[in-house]
Amino acid sequence: MTKRRIVVLGSTGSIGTQTLDVVRQHGDQLEIVGLAVHGRVDELLSQAREFGVCHLAVGDPTLADDPRCDEGRTLVREMATASGADDASFGVGPEAVAALATLPEADVVVNALVGAAGLRASYDTLAAGKVLALANKESLVVGGDLIMPLAARVDAERRAAGLAPATGPAGALMPIDSEHGAIYQCLLGENVREVSKLWVTASGGPFRGRTRDELVGITPAQALAHPTWNMGAKISIDSSTLMNKGLEVIEAHHLFAMDYDKIEVVVQPQSAIHSMVEFTDGSVKAHLGTTDMRIPIQFALSYPDRWEAPVAPLDFRTLGTLEFAAPDTDTFRCLALARHAGSVGGTLPAVMNAANEVAVAAFLAEQIAYLDIAACVEAAMDAHEREGVQVVESLDQLEAVDRWARAFARSWCAA
Ligand code: MG
Repeated sequence: MTKRRIVVLGSTGSIGTQTLDVVRQHGDQLEIVGLAVHGRVDELLSQAREFGVCHLAVGDPTLADDPRCDEGRTLVREMATASGADDASFGVGPEAVAALATLPEADVVVNALVGAAGLRASYDTLAAGKVLALANKESLVVGGDLIMPLAARVDAERRAAGLAPATGPAGALMPIDSEHGAIYQCLLGENVREVSKLWVTASGGPFRGRTRDELVGITPAQALAHPTWNMGAKISIDSSTLMNKGLEVIEAHHLFAMDYDKIEVVVQPQSAIHSMVEFTDGSVKAHLGTTDMRIPIQFALSYPDRWEAPVAPLDFRTLGTLEFAAPDTDTFRCLALARHAGSVGGTLPAVMNAANEVAVAAFLAEQIAYLDIAACVEAAMDAHEREGVQVVESLDQLEAVDRWARAFARSWCAA
């Protein structure tokens, strides 16, 4: 059988390395044809050697003259010659990363880039007619109005050409997020018009149950310690503020074309239920499983099939209690801010996301306090709403709004 050929953007991050784990397990089904990283060149080269990958990109433009990049250029040429491949490439800079999204031999692009930088790669992937396996939720938060119509068009084209094995609920887009992967699976075989609610579950993060007063002196180390999921730094902070859940509400709105009043967040501290879908007859389907991101990553790559996964199955005899609670949006302001941004729509979520990225970086650098993250995001959103929220029209427009919001947030954090 022919293998699915994948490109992994962000291959040394948490999702990237777990994607490579899935490929190790299923080398008979998957083949990596391109890898991109931001700056970890040594790890990139060892991944390229292990998987025999001839197309590599390094996002950080300041590394263009780094001797390790020369080593990489030699490596891909040698591997291409040895394997009889037609060509090889080693690029440096954001455009080199984006170019991998359109690599002719790739079928699927796993976009695990961090932050709004992933949007252009998502757009380019779909514009090139490929399946987008999306871990970069900012792509949808910021550019969902552009991405989803494209995902629907690509899906229709691929099916007309006999390339798509099945119709999924999100066109040519496969979500790599435990909640959205769960909702996706609950929606299979269903009519979306008969959905009455999407229940997005949240662990509640490391500060669940605390008051605002108890969050005043929180340090980066405390906020990075997530109770149930093992993730990168940016998403761990977002999980602790519940901004991650806010981003996921917006993500769900775009992925499944669902109105915001039909998307509810519920705290489920054990993270055993990854999300639920409620139907008009009152039935609720829940997706449960071990908290291991390799499962949703694998599903995004195996769909419509399921493959074996080397993870410990959930043992209901020892699971104990499943708790549920409403989220505390007075303490965790970011969730309320994200719902507001999503409901207003247009360019407001882009402003929210950019301000949040800057504020989280400033908090990790100990330049602002923990509660300032939400305050900074709110200030940027207020300023943008006063100036006038725009209808989303283009990537260039979104990038301009993103730059404005970052500049605003940087000066807010410095003040
Ligand atoms: Mg998630």
